[in-house]
Amino acid sequence: MSRSPTSTRGAATLATAVLTLCLLGACAEQGPPRTALMGATILDGRGGTPLRDGVVLVRGGAIEAVGARENVPLPRGTIEVDVSGSWIIPGLIDAHAHVASWSLKRYIVYGVTTVRDAHNDADSIFAMSEAADLGSGLSPRIYAAGAMIDGVPATYPNATEVTDTRSARQAVDRLSVAGAHLIKAYTRITPELLEAITDEARTFRMPVAAHLGLTDAVTAGKLGVASIEHLSGVPEAAGQPDPLFAAHHDGFFTGWTAFERSWETLDSVTLTQVANQLAETRTTIVPTLVLHEVFSRLDDPTTGDNPDLLAVPQNQRDAWNVPEMVGRAGWTAADFAAFRGGRPKQDLFVRAFLQAGGRVVTGTDAANQMLTPGASEHAELELLVHAGLTPSQALRAATSDAAALLGADSLGVLQPGKAADLVVLSRDPLADITNTRAITQVMVGGQLIRPDSVRRTW
Ligand SMILES: [Zn+2]
Repeated sequence: MSRSPTSTRGAATLATAVLTLCLLGACAEQGPPRTALMGATILDGRGGTPLRDGVVLVRGGAIEAVGARENVPLPRGTIEVDVSGSWIIPGLIDAHAHVASWSLKRYIVYGVTTVRDAHNDADSIFAMSEAADLGSGLSPRIYAAGAMIDGVPATYPNATEVTDTRSARQAVDRLSVAGAHLIKAYTRITPELLEAITDEARTFRMPVAAHLGLTDAVTAGKLGVASIEHLSGVPEAAGQPDPLFAAHHDGFFTGWTAFERSWETLDSVTLTQVANQLAETRTTIVPTLVLHEVFSRLDDPTTGDNPDLLAVPQNQRDAWNVPEMVGRAGWTAADFAAFRGGRPKQDLFVRAFLQAGGRVVTGTDAANQMLTPGASEHAELELLVHAGLTPSQALRAATSDAAALLGADSLGVLQPGKAADLVVLSRDPLADITNTRAITQVMVGGQLIRPDSVRRTW
């Protein structure tokens, strides 16, 4: 699906090699060339038993066969790539991103082959999504919400502002026609408006992702949102909602601050009850723990020492302007201390939700301040394991479970017929989740990429 200048040359060389073989009579049949990744331990993305000394046979953009070496015969002309001693996982999915053109290569280098864009400039994100589908540049697949739907006054100037249920339905209709893959509802959407949005979106079979402000999580779950972002609406369901609703009504940062500060005051038993109620509604949560963690430490000067940030262009790091944002939000030392104090309760909620049978999916909110596209996905995996998921459960959250949230049954699993999106690791991610960073090769749409060669083009 994606071609960089470097890999186009690689594909051309490959095509020439196959053509030569065909002329020599060694080509069994017409069609795209096959590549076989040989000898790795294969993790299927669904938490199945790891398959040792396995083979992933890829043809064109799809997986043709997966199995033990002795069970996967290689047709003539197959290009064999020895990855013995490695691990192969499905391409990772960041289900809460805000994509920019500079971030596309970063996602691929970090093994993120699909992103769900949760709000963006509608024209540019649909163009980027289409370009990715057409393979006109190195890019992850992009599932896009286009412009978020918000109440009055809308938080962002490029949001779609709705005033009543009629305009809310019209906004969904327009986004559907424009090519949105999902609907994103924002913090000023009331239960009444959310009901209209989810009902209208159901007509078009579009999932609704909600960053809640004026609606609590359980109510949103019952109204049929597909996912709740950032654990929003949970304190409103587990504590005293009215002061929080008032804060969200007041302004975005006032709402966020009150919401984030409230966690440390929440009762563990009540949180567990909310987790059970929410899991019953079949709503997925995209907790973006990395956002909570990073934003809780913006007052710590060492936050800027994170080596992942070196992958972010200097002009972008300048544009983030963290001191300006902290000033605008009015965050004090006491706020940051409270944010950090609430983190264990957020972890507890994620754990309880998973135990209740709920689906947890990875998301990052990159490229918001100090969140590196691609790298943040690995930080999120670590934080999910820290919260109590096993490495296998965390991998599912980033692969098959994330694909289920997208409604993309061809993604997130390594099986015949699925998209050839995968990551080759030099170390075992089940032994230590930080090993998802030990990436040697990434395949997207059947195109094999060496991250180091892409890094040189940044
Ligand atoms: Zn976001």
